[in-house]
Amino acid sequence: MGGGEARAEELMQLIFSLRQAGVTDKRVLDAIEKTPREVYVEPAFRERAYANTPLPIRCGQTISQPTIVGLMTQSLQVTPRCKVLEVGAGSGYQAAVLARLARRVYAIERHRPLALLARERLERQGHANVTIRAGDGTLGWPEQAPFDRILVTAAADDTPRLLLEQLRIGGIMVLPVGQSDEVQQLIKIEKSEAGLTYHELGEVLFVPLIEGMAEDAE
Ligand code: SAH
Repeated sequence: MGGGEARAEELMQLIFSLRQAGVTDKRVLDAIEKTPREVYVEPAFRERAYANTPLPIRCGQTISQPTIVGLMTQSLQVTPRCKVLEVGAGSGYQAAVLARLARRVYAIERHRPLALLARERLERQGHANVTIRAGDGTLGWPEQAPFDRILVTAAADDTPRLLLEQLRIGGIMVLPVGQSDEVQQLIKIEKSEAGLTYHELGEVLFVPLIEGMAEDAE
């Protein structure tokens, strides 16, 4: 079997795993199918790019498991009119998936080397509707607020207040909440005129959401 065929086979298997995990939204499945995960993993892990597992990236962080990316993205209910904020850009993979579903994506990463690398990858993939910056995502992105959707891909003890403030009325926010080294609960928050509604989506395990920029040697 050639390299291309092997990859097509792995990708088919991955889409099957996503469906089994409950990802049934065709737009989400399509976005994941069209996003080459191998671009966002480290060269040493490229052979496992389509395995349904998280993988280490630089700065001691991880690219999430594809089924978790699928479930979070599906829960976020992104439409082509949405302006989306992602906190914890990491490799840029989740932002690339969102870029195919949303009008505009803003993503923040506290490790500057990761932010630069993610930006470079997304540019090279032609995602002109994504802006990535290095910064503390717990502060949100006030210049671009309000957002229709906010996705946090690192675990906080509590929902960051500034992010809730930057969520539009009628907006949806998805984030893992809980002590970072234990199991966390994935939460979906809907904001309406009447207030906030919380739904628990299941248990997950993410790296911690840490306030302030990271100090990287580069
Ligand atoms: N969504 C990423 C994976 C996220 S891993 C992907 O698709 O690859 C979680 C990321 O959140 C890490 O890179 C970590 O550095 C980042 N992070 C943690 N706290 C943060 C904060 N306060 N602001 C911005 N990024 C943060």
